Amino acid sequence: MRWFLFLAALAAYAQGFHAEPEKIIQGEAIKVTASADIASARMHGETIPLFTQDSGERMGLMPVPVLTKPGEYNLEFLDATGDVAHKIPITVLDAHYHRDNISIAPAIAALQPSPGEQKTVGDFQKIDSETRYWTEPFHPPLPGCVTSPFGSARLHNGKLTGSFHAGLDQRGAAATPIHPITAGVVKLVEKYNLRGGTVAIDHGQGVESIYLHMSAFSAKEGQHVTPSDTIGYVGSTGRSTGPHVHWTLYVHGEAMNPAQWMSLKACTGPPH
Ligand SMILES: [Zn+2]
Repeated sequence: MRWFLFLAALAAYAQGFHAEPEKIIQGEAIKVTASADIASARMHGETIPLFTQDSGERMGLMPVPVLTKPGEYNLEFLDATGDVAHKIPITVLDAHYHRDNISIAPAIAALQPSPGEQKTVGDFQKIDSETRYWTEPFHPPLPGCVTSPFGSARLHNGKLTGSFHAGLDQRGAAATPIHPITAGVVKLVEKYNLRGGTVAIDHGQGVESIYLHMSAFSAKEGQHVTPSDTIGYVGSTGRSTGPHVHWTLYVHGEAMNPAQWMSLKACTGPPH
């Protein structure tokens, strides 16, 4: 029996079915790789395309959303006809995101989105372009420490809101340059009521990022950018109470914990 399992695992390995990691924390992404005949992968109702890489292998990123229940799941590898060619068991672990009580001044809380703001940003999150611009490692967009981490459950005046912090806040003096976390193509450069000065970037193959509250822009829509480029400057525009950048890394439209991709330092002592 053991031999059988060992040989089955070896055969799967030889066929090139990989999921990395197989034990994943809520809010992180699984790197799925397979041979050329595998078209997509599916887990917990989400199907993602696998894209052909320079190596000839196919690869895609399966997001595990923050609100996924911890437990056991199956990652399925699908061929071009949609048949399941292979399965890998995945364990989703509780990230233990902390609770963040925030008080918002009434004038700020009353801000409404600009006409089209929600739809335009929502459409941006659905982009799935074939070309891969991103390369690891990713880089923080500015050197400042993290004032509010990714994933914290949001409480308003002590009451749970059912939402979580879908991004993180990094401190930066007004006018500090902001850089993209990895290479990509600028898709949005807009001034919005809620998000303030906003730049959104497509990094290709389901990876995207967005940067908010900027005071000024230094990028144009359609521009190819790398982490050495400045895309804009720290401000406090939109729903913001002081200079900072709120930014989000998306994988197939799901807000992900950037800590999986880069090291970030918290501003204050107590651990989150
Ligand atoms: Zn924020």
